[in-house]
Amino acid sequence: MHVGPPRRGRAVNDAAPARASSLIVEKYGGTSLADMERIRAVARNIAESAKAGHRMIVVVSAMSGETNRLLELAREAADAPSERESDVLLATGEQVSIALVTMALHALGVEARSHTGAQFRILTDQAHGSARIVEIRSERVQRDLQRGVVAVVAGFQGVDGDDNITTLGRGGSDTTAVAVAAALNADECRIYTDVAGVHTADPRVVPEARRLDRLTFEEMLELSGAGAKVLQIRAVEFAGKYNVPLRVLSSFAPGPGTLITNEDPKMEQPLISGITYSRDEAKVTIRGVPDKPGVAHQLLGPVSEARVNVDMIVQNVGADGLTDLTFTVSSGDLERSKKILAPIVAGIKGAELTGGGGLAKVSVVGVGMRSHAGIATAMFKTLFEKGINIQMISTSEIKISVTIDMEYTELAVRALHKAFGLEEAA
Ligand code: ASP
Ligand code: MG
Repeated sequence: MHVGPPRRGRAVNDAAPARASSLIVEKYGGTSLADMERIRAVARNIAESAKAGHRMIVVVSAMSGETNRLLELAREAADAPSERESDVLLATGEQVSIALVTMALHALGVEARSHTGAQFRILTDQAHGSARIVEIRSERVQRDLQRGVVAVVAGFQGVDGDDNITTLGRGGSDTTAVAVAAALNADECRIYTDVAGVHTADPRVVPEARRLDRLTFEEMLELSGAGAKVLQIRAVEFAGKYNVPLRVLSSFAPGPGTLITNEDPKMEQPLISGITYSRDEAKVTIRGVPDKPGVAHQLLGPVSEARVNVDMIVQNVGADGLTDLTFTVSSGDLERSKKILAPIVAGIKGAELTGGGGLAKVSVVGVGMRSHAGIATAMFKTLFEKGINIQMISTSEIKISVTIDMEYTELAVRALHKAFGLEEAA
């Protein structure tokens, strides 16, 4: 990512304090900004960091529920609202937040200025609704930072090369925060949310779940991919790529949160960091397809072209020149996937297409797995002892995932949490 050189205008330098202070990016999500009381609390939190002498960039989301409300309005305006105009509409949510947070900072006597994505020069490609950041030009904000003015930036939005407003996809202000932190070489990017950090499992399912002090980018990526909803997965990818230390913490209660960084070779890694799950998974099976080159591509190509997110893929060892292929998608994509595949499968003699929902994926994640055998066996044994049938298995170097009947999700997560000894130390 290109970053413009900091400008060194004389007036700016004269006003700048002589100390070298850390640059902190703080991001506040929708629930942290739910109403004016919360917005004032957030302003107090920012004021504290600013008074500690840090240079501050604050990235905000829309107030909770606002983006959904705007999407609903768009659907009422037209059956298929224009993507360009949808982005113009959605970007207003974050614009409200930057103004209100900045005003609340002023009320506390903190110097602050708001910036839309366009003003901050967050430049993206043209993919409305799922744009990618290509460049951040930081000249304007550098001037503010040097004078000790807090920069309050609208998350989730940018502009394309033609100055059309774009948005980054749901949850995108996490990505804005990380990208801004990377572009300006921030010392830390703090993601404030409504939970105290990343936990060993969803505390709503496992009351004994423990907050993790630290995690690696890799583990956080696997946890996000496996259903943990704390951070947008693109933001984690970005943070890992540019090595931006991320801290997830609560804006509701003080605490150290969870620090996400590169693996520290000096530290002993825990075997398992967390258990996670995602409900509402579905599987599609195609039986009796020829066991020859190109079949997986013939079947899965059109599905991914339709932007269906295919997760686990399992192909059986062929027998008598035929094989089976099963893959999982989210339940919402099941019918669409079957519709795309039906004509293709109909064209393959003897092949058969089936599919159904009601599944969950449960995953065990930990970098310690890399150097330790037997985790998979321990996982399968635990599920067997609870009488839970495993339908599919997939693994990475640091993750084992299984699909099971959705009704056993909680049971499986709790049993695994216990089996791997992740409860709070008494
Ligand atoms: N307001 C946007 C959304 O709800 C972006 C964000 O919250 O990160 O998806
Ligand atoms: Mg969010």
